[in-house]
Amino acid sequence: MQKLCREVWIEVNLDAIKRNIEAIQAHIPRKSKIMAVVKANAYGHGSVEVARQALESGATELAVASLEEGIVLRRAKIEAPILVLGFTPLDCVKRAAAWRIDLSGLREDWIVQANEILAEEESQHRLGIHVNVDTGMGRLGVRTKEELLEVVEALEKSENLRWDGIFTHFSTADEPDPDFTLLQHSIFIDFLRFLKKQGITLPTVHMNNTAAAIAFPEFSADMIRLGIGLYGLYPSQYIESLDAVQLEPALSLKARIAFVKEMVTKPRTVSYGATYVAKPDEVIATIPIGYADGYSRALSNRGFMLFRGKRMPIAGRVTMDMTMISLGEMKAKQGEEVVIYGRQKGGEISVDEIAEMLNTINYEVIATLSRRVPRFYRRCGKIIKISTPVMYV
Ligand SMILES: *Cc1c(COP(=O)(O)O)cnc(C)c1O
Repeated sequence: MQKLCREVWIEVNLDAIKRNIEAIQAHIPRKSKIMAVVKANAYGHGSVEVARQALESGATELAVASLEEGIVLRRAKIEAPILVLGFTPLDCVKRAAAWRIDLSGLREDWIVQANEILAEEESQHRLGIHVNVDTGMGRLGVRTKEELLEVVEALEKSENLRWDGIFTHFSTADEPDPDFTLLQHSIFIDFLRFLKKQGITLPTVHMNNTAAAIAFPEFSADMIRLGIGLYGLYPSQYIESLDAVQLEPALSLKARIAFVKEMVTKPRTVSYGATYVAKPDEVIATIPIGYADGYSRALSNRGFMLFRGKRMPIAGRVTMDMTMISLGEMKAKQGEEVVIYGRQKGGEISVDEIAEMLNTINYEVIATLSRRVPRFYRRCGKIIKISTPVMYV
C-alpha cells in the first residue's frame, strides 16, 4: 500500500454500516425492505463501497439524487434496483433505461413523452417509475388525486415504462410534535385508498426516511428509504433521545501533523488575518486539512482536533488546505496522528458536535466532505480498500 502524499483521510467502518442496517431492520416490520440512500457520494462516505456493503447487509435497493450518481454505481457492476429521487429531464430518459435506473414520476405529460421517447429505442427494457406524491414536503410530486390518477393511468397505458413504486416524503418526522407527520401520512393513505377504489393494484409503497422509520416504524410499508441512519447518525437529537435504535457512526476523519514549531520568535501570529497570537513557549502544529476538503472555515479559532486523545484548539483561521492547532507546551513530531472527527484514546469529537458549532445539521457536515480526501474502508479492524481521487503510480 502506497503512502498518502498529503496525509489526511476519511475512514469508513463498514462493520458499523452493517450493524446500523441490522439495528434498523430489527426495529421495523420484517416485511419492510430497506432502500439504502447513497446520494451525494453516500453522504460523503463513498457511494460504491457503501452501496456494496448495504446490499450485502440486507438492503435490497438503492436511491440516488441524480441519474449520474446511479450510473457511477452501475459502472461499478452494482446490479440492484436504483431509484433517482430527483427530477430527471426528458433528454435523459434513454440513458436511464439503458442503464436500468428507475426514475421518479412527477407529471402526466412527462410520463407520456418519456414513453414516446423510449418507443424509438430497440431495447426491451422498460423504464421503472416510482410516483412521488407531495403530501407536505412541497418539493417534488403530484399534489392532487386528479393529478395522481392521470399519472397512474398514463403509466398503465405506457408500453415502455413500468410502474414500480409510489412514495411520499416526510418533512418533520425528526421533530417531537407528531402532528404534521400524521397529517402527511393520512393524506398519503387517502391517496392510496383512492387508487385502490379505482381498481388499481399498488406497486411498492414507501414513505419512511430514517427519522420516520425510528419514530413511526408502523409506517414502514413495503420499504423504507434509509439515509442518515445507515451512516450511524441520528436525524435529530429528538430521534436519538427516543433511545429506540442504537446507531454507530461509520465515519472518522484523520490526519497526520505536517509541520510543528515552537513559537519562540516574534511575530507569533498564526494564519490569515493574524487573528491568533501564540505564547512564546506554545507549540503550533499544521494539519493538512482545509475548507477545500469540507472542513468549514467557520471553525476558525473555535474548533478542536484530538491529539493523543486530548482536544487541541484550532489556532487562527482555517485556510483552504491547512489548519493550525495549538498543542500548548506538548512536544510533537511531524507524522503524529490527529483525529478531526471520531475517537482517539478515550477522546471524541462527534460530527453532531461540529454540526452544532456550525449551526447546521450532521447531514451537511458529512455530505460536504470533498472528493479530494481519500476514503479508507475498514472491515474487522483492517483497512481493506483505499479509494483516492488520484491513483498514485
Ligand atoms: C435524502 C432522502 C431520504 C433519506 O433521508 P434520511 O433522513 O437521510 O434518512 C429519503 N427520501 C428522500 C426522498 C430523500 O431525498
